[in-house]
Amino acid sequence: MKLPYIRRARHLAALAEWEERLAKAKLRQAELAEKLKVLTETRGRELDHTRALSKLCESLKAEVAELRQREADADPLQFTLLDRVAAARAGQFQKPTTPIPVVLCVDVEPDAREVDLADPSWRGTDVFLEKWPALMATLVEKSGAASVPLTWFPRADPQIEKSNGSAGFALQRYTQHWEAAQAAGDEIGLHMHGWRWQEETGQWSQDHGDSAWMEHCLRSAIGEYRAHFGKTPPVYRGGDHYLDDTVLRVLREEGIPLDMTLELLPTMQRLVEVEHGTGSLPDCSGAPAYAYRPCVEDFRVPAPGQSDGLGILPLTPFQGGSLCLWAPNHRVDEALEFIIQQKPAPSHLAFAVRSNIADTGYWPCFVENMLSLARRVKEGSLRFTTASQAWQLAMAEKEDASCP
Ligand SMILES: [Zn+2]
Repeated sequence: MKLPYIRRARHLAALAEWEERLAKAKLRQAELAEKLKVLTETRGRELDHTRALSKLCESLKAEVAELRQREADADPLQFTLLDRVAAARAGQFQKPTTPIPVVLCVDVEPDAREVDLADPSWRGTDVFLEKWPALMATLVEKSGAASVPLTWFPRADPQIEKSNGSAGFALQRYTQHWEAAQAAGDEIGLHMHGWRWQEETGQWSQDHGDSAWMEHCLRSAIGEYRAHFGKTPPVYRGGDHYLDDTVLRVLREEGIPLDMTLELLPTMQRLVEVEHGTGSLPDCSGAPAYAYRPCVEDFRVPAPGQSDGLGILPLTPFQGGSLCLWAPNHRVDEALEFIIQQKPAPSHLAFAVRSNIADTGYWPCFVENMLSLARRVKEGSLRFTTASQAWQLAMAEKEDASCP
C-alpha cells in the first residue's frame, strides 16, 4: 500500500523541478527581451545618426559645388577688373625706353626640403607640369607675346641620389618634358642644394660649412647634367641662395657662363632656422641688383672693365628681400610699378619659385602675379625671356649706354 505515496512524492519532486526550470526560463526570456529592447533602441539611434550624416554630406556637397561655381565665376570677373585697372593706370606713367627682360626660374625639386626617405615625393612637380600649359596659354593671350619661356632648374645632387636612388632621377623622369620645353624655347639650367644625410642621427643637414662637400655636390650635379643633356648647363642656381667664391670658382672651371643664385639678403645661419646645417649664408645685402661680372676675389663686387667671363643675374630685390611671386598680388603689383619706373631702369627682373608651388595654396597668388607681369608685357614695359637671353640683352644695353 506504500507504493502510491512513493509515486506521489516522486511526482511532486518532478513537478517542483519543472516549476523551477520554468521560472528560470521565464527569467531568461525576460532578460533576452530586455537585451533585444536595448539593441533595437541602439540600432534605431544608429540609423538616425547615419541618416543625419548622409543628409549633412549631401548639403556639404551642394555647398562645395556652389563655392566651386562661384570661384569659376569670380576669377574671370576679378581678372577683367584688374585688366581695366591696369589699362587706366597705363597712361599715367612713363614706360622704359626698351622693354625690361623678365626671367622666370622654376626650381624643379622634391616636395619636401628635408626629404622623407620613405616618401621622396615629386608630386608638386607633376602638378606644375599639368597646370603650366593652361596658364601659359592665358599669359600668351594677355601679354600678346609669342610665348612665355621659363628657365627650369632641375636638381641632380647627392640628396636626390640618396632619396630617389639616382642623382639623375628628375632628368630622366621628366625627359620628355625637357625635350618639349627646349624645343619650345625654354632653357634648362641646374639647381643644387648641399643637403647631406647624417646616418648617425637619421637627419638631413645642409653642409654649407664644408666647402669640399659643396664642391662635390656641385661637380657631381654638373656631371649628371652633362651625362643627360650632352652639354654644360647654361645657367646655375644654388639652393637657399647659397653662393660663395668657391662655388663661383667651380662654375668658372666647369665653364658655366651664368649664375642666378644671388639675392640681396643679409647674412643668416640658415634659410629655415629649425633645419640642421653647418656654416652660414654670406651677407649679400650690398651686392649689385643689376646684371654684372663678379670679381674673382669677391663675387659681390663687379669686376671693373671686364667684357667676358661668368655673369651674375641677381633675383629682383625689394625692401630688404627678394620680390616673391607667391606674395599677395596687390603688393607685387605695387612693387612692380615702383621697380619698373626706377632710373636708371633695372637691367632685368628675375623671380624664382619651387616646382611644388602648383600643389600649394600659393598657386592662385602666383597666377595673379604672372598676369600682372603679362599686362606689363602687353603695355611694352617688360618682355619675357630665358636667363641667357636676359643676360645678352642686359650686356647689349650696357654697351649701348657706354657708347658716346
Ligand atoms: Zn631649392
